[in-house]
Amino acid sequence: MTDTVAHRIHPSSSAPTQRQAEAIALEDEHAAHNYHPLPVVIAEGAGAWVTDVDGRRYLDCLAAYSAVNFGHSNPLLLDAARAQLERITLTSRAFHNDQLGPFVTELAALAGKDMVLPMNTGAEAVESAIKVARAWGYRVKGVADGRANIIVMAGNFHGRTTTIVSFSDDPDARDGFGPYTPGFRTVPYGDAHAVASAIDEDTVAVLVEPIQGEAGIVVPPAEFLPALRALCDEHRVLLIADEIQSGLGRTGSTFACDLVGVVPDLYLLGKALGGGIVPVSAVVGDREVLGVLRPGEHGSTFGGNPLAAAVGRAVVALLATGEPQERAELLGRRLNADLDRLVGHGVVRVRGAGLWAGIDIDPALATGREVCELLMERGVLAKDTHGSTIRLAPPIVVEPADLDWAVDQLEAVLAELATRS
Ligand SMILES: *Cc1c(COP(=O)(O)O)cnc(C)c1O
Repeated sequence: MTDTVAHRIHPSSSAPTQRQAEAIALEDEHAAHNYHPLPVVIAEGAGAWVTDVDGRRYLDCLAAYSAVNFGHSNPLLLDAARAQLERITLTSRAFHNDQLGPFVTELAALAGKDMVLPMNTGAEAVESAIKVARAWGYRVKGVADGRANIIVMAGNFHGRTTTIVSFSDDPDARDGFGPYTPGFRTVPYGDAHAVASAIDEDTVAVLVEPIQGEAGIVVPPAEFLPALRALCDEHRVLLIADEIQSGLGRTGSTFACDLVGVVPDLYLLGKALGGGIVPVSAVVGDREVLGVLRPGEHGSTFGGNPLAAAVGRAVVALLATGEPQERAELLGRRLNADLDRLVGHGVVRVRGAGLWAGIDIDPALATGREVCELLMERGVLAKDTHGSTIRLAPPIVVEPADLDWAVDQLEAVLAELATRS
């Protein structure tokens, strides 16, 4: 579906209507308060656009943290899901199903690897990789039982389980949830020397986001990942790339690692792998590593289910054309050129890769949250992260003119804030 600027209706007032207020009140009353959503109640979506319960339309510049890379209600992905819904949706891995084999074969081929461990959420893929790396360390590398360590980065975001928050340095994510899982060493992101110093004979893996998403789209120095690859080869350590947010087209390539020519031992995938329809995640790697798992050692009731596999296959087929990657690259260049003109006009700095931008707003002007609220009033949905940073990551199917329009709205918001202060 193609939206044009001329067809757009955007809200003129921020006051929530009765219908919105009711929906928000129900959520506030009965859903745990582990999020602080913008006051918009979405009812429908198509492509890069969503519609609220009152029929007002917004350009979705978050795309569910890149889980909706291919757009809302993507017709190809919906067709694949519908067809599979009518056939069978869940068998458990106690039996084989006719979608899993093709899915893992096609996904492994896309990644240039041998094997796939299918799971559901991103955090589960990370947890699975930690178990695999430890098992590989003990069984293949010969690390003494119970001694394996994994090197992680400051500012990381890998999910919300107790083990994963154990090695987060975000106090909101971590504080109050101990006791923490041992076996992790934190080093500064982007500092290969620090990684070299932290590696010892018990190190089994380096876990890294090739670009840190939640930290504010932080791109490391170009030599960082290649240096990690060399260190991991030298010390026989697994390089694990968490591409749950950066992978599958967002950065203008299939994986963010591709941008610097690095091939990790394990790719962790999630978010967009489920096409915005069902949660699908995966650990993708070679037989020497993923082959360490034996029956009964790891599993998931829903992992590898036929519906997830059918949707995952459609996602892989989309990416195999190379078109989403190419589009993200082209649109990303346009977005960055547009954003560059705001630097010095309320924007301190812009970071990014492909169709993914982290924008540091002048903290004297507003918080990221305030900017997002004002953008919402103008029909653009974005999300703040860490203080005065906002992130733009629209679905890759976004129309170029709509992207330009979103940046115009940001420019208008910043101008409005400048006159206010
Ligand atoms: C979102 C995310 C995760 C966690 O995925 P969930 O599906 O929310 O569990 C892990 N790593 C990265 C880099 C992410 O962005």
